[in-house]
This record gives sequence, C-alpha cells and structure tokens, in this order.
Amino acid sequence: MYTCGPTVYDYAHIGNFRAFLFEDLLKRWLEYHGYKVTHVMNLTDVDDKTIKGSQKQKIRLEEYTAHYTNAFYEDIKALNIKLADHYPKATSHIAEMVALVKTLIQKGYAYKSQDGSIYYAIGKFRDYGKLSHIKVAELQVGARVKTDEYTKEEAQDFALWKAWTREDGDVFWETELGKGRPGWHIECSAMSMRYLGETFDIHCGGVDNMFPHHENEIAQSESATGKIFVNYWLHNEHLLVEGRKMAKKFGNFYTLRDLLGKDYEPIAIRYLLLSTHYRAQLNFTFEALDAAGAAVERLRSFVRRLLYAQGNGSGGKVVELLSKVQEGFGGAMDDDLNVSVALAALFDFVREVNVLLEAGEVSRTEANDIDALMKRFDGVLGVIGEVAPQDVLSKEAEELIEKREKARKAKDWATADALRMRLSEMGVVLEDTAQGVRWRLVKKA
Ligand code: AMP
Ligand code: ZN
Repeated sequence: MYTCGPTVYDYAHIGNFRAFLFEDLLKRWLEYHGYKVTHVMNLTDVDDKTIKGSQKQKIRLEEYTAHYTNAFYEDIKALNIKLADHYPKATSHIAEMVALVKTLIQKGYAYKSQDGSIYYAIGKFRDYGKLSHIKVAELQVGARVKTDEYTKEEAQDFALWKAWTREDGDVFWETELGKGRPGWHIECSAMSMRYLGETFDIHCGGVDNMFPHHENEIAQSESATGKIFVNYWLHNEHLLVEGRKMAKKFGNFYTLRDLLGKDYEPIAIRYLLLSTHYRAQLNFTFEALDAAGAAVERLRSFVRRLLYAQGNGSGGKVVELLSKVQEGFGGAMDDDLNVSVALAALFDFVREVNVLLEAGEVSRTEANDIDALMKRFDGVLGVIGEVAPQDVLSKEAEELIEKREKARKAKDWATADALRMRLSEMGVVLEDTAQGVRWRLVKKA
C-alpha cells in the first residue's frame, strides 16, 4: 500500500490528517483480517512549495524540511497512527527518478524542451485520463505545464525533470538528465515502485490528488513498465471546517498543533477525523470535537466498568451480543470501510452490555470475552488504549454514595442496598464505620 505523504513545507493540517487517518484505518482493517500490509508513505521534501519555503526563511532546503519532517513524526505519534514500513524521502531517491525518466525518453513518452526540462507527452499514452475521467481529445497537444499543481482544464504535457533556473538557488542535482530537479509526480512513481514493485495493490490519497498527481503517476509508471501500476485506488473526500473549505483566508485553518494548543485531546481528534466514511466530506466543528471526546470517554469507561464485573452470568445474552456486534461492526467495515455504521453498531453493543452490567448479570468470564473483543476493535480504531482501574472516585460514584447516605438516614434500607450493589459493580466497595462511610476501589478480580 502506497499513500501520498506530506509535503514537508509546513506543519500538517487537519485535512492532511483526515487523509492519513483514513489510510491508517484502512491498514488496520486489513490487518484485522490477517493481511500482512507493507505500507510506504513518501515524504515530499523537494518540490515547488518546499523550495519557496526554504528560500523565504533563508535556510538550506534540508534544514527546512527536516524541521517539518520531525514535526510530522511527532504528530502521527500523538494521533496514534501506526508507522509505515518505509518513509522514503524524495531527495534520497533521485537516482531512481532519473532512471525512470530515461526509460520514458527511450520509449518515446518523454521529450526535452528547449530550456532543458523534460516533459511527459500525455498524447502518447492512450489511457491518459482513465482515473480522473478527463477527455484527452480536448487537450492541446504539445502545450506544457511546469508547475507541480494545476487543474484539469490545464491538463498538458507535464514536467518530469525541471532544468535548473535561478529561482531554484542551490537546489539542483547534476545528473544524466542535466542540472535540475525532479517534478513532484515522478517522485511518487519512482518511490512506490522502488519499494513495492511495478504493480502493487493499493494507492491512496485525497481527492485533490486524483488529478493531476495520480493520473500522472499512472501515465509515468504504466508507460515505463507496460504493466498495471495499481490494482485499487482509494481517495478520501475533503475535510471542511464549519461547512467551508479550510483556508487561511477564511480564518478556519487548523494544524494539529493549533488544536493541541487549545488543549484538545489528540485521541478525540483522531476519533473525529476517522469517524466519517472516507468518501463523504467531513465537516469539522468544535461541537463535533467535543462529542468525539465524549464518545472516546464512553468507550473507555465501558472498558473500565468491565474490570469490576462479577455477576452470575447472563445466560447466553453476552454471547449473542458479541456475535451481533462482530457482524454489525465487521459487516460495515467490510462494506467499503463504512466506519460510521460500524461505530453505531459498537455503541449499540456498549449500551446493551451496560444494561446487563447494571443488572449484575455479567460474569468475569463474560467480561473477559467482551474485553478481548473491545481490544480487537481498538486494534482498528486506536482510541481506547490501556484502561486502568480507577484510583479516584468518579463523579457518578460520589453522587451514588451521597444518595445512599441519604437513604440510610431515612432508613430506606432497600434503596441503600441497591445503591451499594451499583457501586460495587463500579468497583467501589463501601464500609460503614463509626466515623461514617468509607470507600475503597477494588482491582480486577
Ligand atoms: P500534501 O501535504 O498537500 O501533499 O497532502 C497530503 C495529503 O493530504 C494528500 O493525500 C492530500 O490529498 C490530503 N489533503 C490535503 N488537504 C485535504 C483536506 N482538506 N481534506 C482531506 N485531505 C486533504
Ligand atoms: Zn504522491
């Protein structure tokens, strides 16, 4: 699996992380099914944007991109994104890019322009446009575009190798193709095939990358090898903020760091960014982020509650619920990664088991089975983590203790006993002493 990684010219924003989290979810779901996934994510550390950025700060390109690369690694750790097997940097794979461009020239798909840059002739590749469905007949043959990013309307021969110009400053390589630097698109073709072979299974990225980036990757790779480049393409839709495109000029642009600076929990951000189906637009709002934090907390307190279950057994009800949730969650995820439906099934399960826990029906063995399944699901979601027994009273427990005291004072023994039972299921054991009630928390049996 190859996923287009960050262009390390700035801190990654939450739209980027929507893409990276969808890819993380996909990988984890494949692993849940027992697939061994080899995952490659490139780091675009030389392109139009990185060069401009380093020049603005008047530092060397390597120094500039190293800063944002390190920040990226910190961010993915905070979001509990599983590490890829390889993070190739474009600047470390110039030789592979040069070799690929040479092949394209030999096969007649690429040509040198007057300024020494080398272009891909899109008119030569019969299948050009097959991914993004653009109509090549309308293209002006021979017209050229040198910038890395452009729209469908500007589809033209694109730069594989950009001859050095003064604006590039000290960023260039002396190669058989001349003095210059690679175009962005050839980077991903060269690095994906270097690590995954000429044909590989899955390639992901955001919809904004479908054209021109991925269209051009297909053209470059397939015309060079004569083989299918990628078996499955998956593109995530965009993240919007408060219903609008996220942009600095709208004042609704957030990096992960911006949100962490406002004291939002990274795992709540993770939950929010992965909980919408990847092919639907995701509207980020701060209410939704609060709700995501609450959802994570609900899952955690559920798992914590399991630690204290010591009922007599549910008479098969737990087994039934376990199989129902596996079907519900699994069926939805198998259906093109329909995570919102999967999560709904999970929360139904939590609610139904909570009823049994409340009634004191869940035995230790059943609780352990539930816990094991929650761990498997969390291997996919990555939001619960290790849940420790409580060492401080929850607000809920405090209120129940107070209520019980009131009931005792009113000599309502039935209510007092029922409340003691509730607390015991939450792991809170009460002792009535001459000095009043004392509580202690019991660990898992
Ligand atoms: P970049 O660093 O711009 O090359 O983008 C890295 C990844 O983030 C690519 O897969 C992009 O398609 C994706 N991406 C960029 N902006 C957004 C957004 N607003 N919503 C979702 N994905 C995005
Ligand atoms: Zn790419």
